[in-house]
Amino acid sequence: MSTMSTYDICIVGAGIVGLSTARQLQLNYPHLKILILEKESGVALHQTGRNSGVIHAGVYYPPQSLKANFCREGLKKTIDYCQEHHLPYEQCGKLIVATNTVELQRMEALYQRCLENKLDVIRLSREELQEREPDIDGCAAIYVKETGIVNYQALSEQLAKEFIESGGTLQLNAEVVQIQETATEIRLDTKKHSLRCRYLISCSGVMADRLIRMMGERPDFQIVPFRGEYYRLSPQFDARFQHLIYPVPDPSLPFLGVHLTKMIDGSVTAGPNAMLAYGRESYRKCDISPSDVLDMVRYPGFWKMLSRNLFPGVDELLHSYIRSLYLKKVQKYCPNIQLKDLKPFPSGIRAQAISRDGQLMQDFHFFETKRTLHVGNAPSPAATSAFPIGAYIMSKAAKNWLDG
Ligand SMILES: Cc1cc2nc3c(=O)[nH]c(=O)nc-3n(C[C@H](O)[C@H](O)[C@H](O)COP(=O)(O)OP(=O)(O)OC[C@H]3O[C@@H](n4cnc5c(N)ncnc54)[C@H](O)[C@@H]3O)c2cc1C
Repeated sequence: MSTMSTYDICIVGAGIVGLSTARQLQLNYPHLKILILEKESGVALHQTGRNSGVIHAGVYYPPQSLKANFCREGLKKTIDYCQEHHLPYEQCGKLIVATNTVELQRMEALYQRCLENKLDVIRLSREELQEREPDIDGCAAIYVKETGIVNYQALSEQLAKEFIESGGTLQLNAEVVQIQETATEIRLDTKKHSLRCRYLISCSGVMADRLIRMMGERPDFQIVPFRGEYYRLSPQFDARFQHLIYPVPDPSLPFLGVHLTKMIDGSVTAGPNAMLAYGRESYRKCDISPSDVLDMVRYPGFWKMLSRNLFPGVDELLHSYIRSLYLKKVQKYCPNIQLKDLKPFPSGIRAQAISRDGQLMQDFHFFETKRTLHVGNAPSPAATSAFPIGAYIMSKAAKNWLDG
């Protein structure tokens, strides 16, 4: 007789998405035996623990997209959770600052988008902006009141604690290397042991497509890693800004641009940029994973994406290696920051799904088989949106597996 452990649901990945999903399933289906497998020695050590810590309000996203809906609901749920568990957060608001006439036009379009998304926003003149933030130079700004900050790693640790205290199993140092789906169950191998479960949910971030391929399936996307590099500003800037300061993003680029972020510990960071990484966990410029690079260059969608984004790609590369160019991005709206104020700070890596035709997938994306559900693309603001994403996954699990 087999001595393999068996579970009802196995969740791969203890980032904020996996943890939120596990906790909500546990609360709603207390009789289920749920297991989380995490390859690292702690929770939230990748995207969740290496981000800007912003609770987004949902400025940029097309109305009625999953991103827009999840973000609005996620902001409320994140704040409720922090209040309930006495986790520090602050709703400091954010300013999106226009510095020239092109940006003014783009800012106006963003303002309309904010209204469509039913956000509490105010337009600020140059004088009103200066009054709020004397260090910031711009011709106008949008003030988004609800945006906040939090420590997503601390929030994830709290979720993990509750999950374990309520009878859930979290196994760390348990990297899933093999998945086999049969008509009646899932068989899983980690590097150390084998187990069985009825259903599997993968929330494996930058490894999302690999988990699908482990099952012999062909994903409709591939993850390409983009490193987001930050600097910490010198301590003289701590507590100097009352809001988060964002540039007006270029609509042809997928990321939000280098911004100034008050962190929950009082420090201020500048970043992140978006630099193609030479490995899925290559957090330093010098880290290269030959197998990850090979994987990337073998994917036709990668070359299509690269040819479409050649100019911004080269621009990011130059700004990454030449600190004075990076500084210029920040000085555009905050001229008082000098080169000596940019101190080293850990980077993060975005798991960006690229479709076969080379598009950077913008919305959340899922991949399903009969007994598995994979979170394929969970880009920013997925940390803000982790509670609604978890609820969405739970509703799919209920419909497909649990309530049938
Ligand atoms: C630079 C940067 C800035 C960002 N800023 C913000 C922000 O301010 N606000 C916001 O809302 N969002 C932000 N985001 C996005 C947000 O951080 C992510 O969307 C979110 O954390 C995704 O969570 P996750 O649980 O899906 O992934 P992750 O946190 O990456 O977790 C995935 C987990 O799966 C584990 N795993 C992978 N493969 C395996 C395997 N084979 N076996 C076992 N475990 C495995 C990994 O070790 C990891 O712990 C930012 C992201 C980055 C990179």
